Amino acid sequence: MKLSEIDATLREIRVSPVKTLGQNFLHDQNLARWIVDKADLTPEDFVVEVGPGLGALTQFVLDSGAHVLALEKDRRLAEFLRSRFSTERLEILHADALDYDVRQLFAKPRVKFLSNLPYYVSSQLLLKFAKYPSPISLWLLMLQKELAQRLSAAPGTSDYGALTLIVQLHYHVEYLRTVPASVFLPRPDVDSAFVRLLPRSPEELPDHDPEIFLRLVRRGFSQRRKQLRNLLREEIRDWDQAATVGRFEPRARAEELALEQWIALSNIVRSQSLAAPDQTASERFPVVDDQDRLLGDAPRAEVHGDNLRHRAVHILVFNRSGELFLQKRARSKDRHPLLWDTSAAGHVDAGEEYDFAARRELQEELGVSAELTRVAKLPASEKTGQEFIWIYRTEHEGPFELARSEIEYGDFFPVDVVAKWVQARPHDFAPGFLECWKVLTASP
Ligand code: SAM
Repeated sequence: MKLSEIDATLREIRVSPVKTLGQNFLHDQNLARWIVDKADLTPEDFVVEVGPGLGALTQFVLDSGAHVLALEKDRRLAEFLRSRFSTERLEILHADALDYDVRQLFAKPRVKFLSNLPYYVSSQLLLKFAKYPSPISLWLLMLQKELAQRLSAAPGTSDYGALTLIVQLHYHVEYLRTVPASVFLPRPDVDSAFVRLLPRSPEELPDHDPEIFLRLVRRGFSQRRKQLRNLLREEIRDWDQAATVGRFEPRARAEELALEQWIALSNIVRSQSLAAPDQTASERFPVVDDQDRLLGDAPRAEVHGDNLRHRAVHILVFNRSGELFLQKRARSKDRHPLLWDTSAAGHVDAGEEYDFAARRELQEELGVSAELTRVAKLPASEKTGQEFIWIYRTEHEGPFELARSEIEYGDFFPVDVVAKWVQARPHDFAPGFLECWKVLTASP
């Protein structure tokens, strides 16, 4: 919409822009088109737009053939949009985007996020929708210039801070252009900037514990002028050694450390507290015949290397609302790293029965014990990696203490979302989970 059209529309629908809702409407058509072009949209895309306002961006997104979910807090604007665009490809929710359940988006094959965000709440919205692991594959955001500079900052600059690292841990942030206040009606008090976020690929960064990373970063930036040596005294036993490993000055302040150096620091803290050494090398599994009768046992590497039939358990944990807890496998796993899997799962060890192994896995991976019910048994096949699998279910509300060496992340998901997710993105899941899911959804 041009400036005169926005003016006329606002008068017609009797809306005067509400400052507390960050209502500054974009009237530069060329800029709107340029923004939407950056998303490379096709009819296969599902676009989430927060704060569509009068539809300055929505219009061009719809022209691309993509589907749009528009979340607008102002009821009058949501109603206006319904009258302006009549297409089934646009769903308008009159809602506060802060209340939206992001888990729903996992059910869509490809999700892109495009928004001229309301500035009063932009960092909260960003942190909510970009929370790892996010189903969104591309972000195009108009932000207050100062926030855009903080997100895209490089080490050693005054804009570089905890927020920079929290976002850059998962995303590449590109500052694409500065946008003057004059392209909006009414003009905001500040300049804006347009940024693009792309998720990092999983192999890009070394394995790390995100909780330790966040704790160190927050503590490190709590007093920017202080040397890290003093701020992290309680965390790192041998600071000079840490500085050598991380290749930074022992007298460094928080803003001098790059992302990889913060990860290195967090891994030093993690290694200080690692109690048990990795036991996978010495594990032995029972080897069984095609009827699941015990033949003997063999080391883990031999069982997997020679494709011998063996045994495993998968446990499905539901909460009171019937949601299923899924785990995202740790990036350090030798098989199917970072894929989504059942709540807890593992091999039956030599000398163990299925039920015992299921209780042990639940305790080891989620840190809880609960009554388990057998649901179904899968035969060993190529699809299960030659595992006979007993599937169990139980109810638990959490919270869980996730075994970080096994699990990167976990959350409850509504079962209908999981069903659509499996359809839309089967490659997101470990093959064992897909086999369990097939059996579960096939039973009457
Ligand atoms: N996209 C439009 C444009 O570019 O002209 C409007 C952008 S304006 C900066 C921000 C929009 O976000 C307004 O329409 C406002 O009503 C809406 N909004 C404000 N807070 C919101 C929230 N919490 N959830 C959803 N929409 C919100």
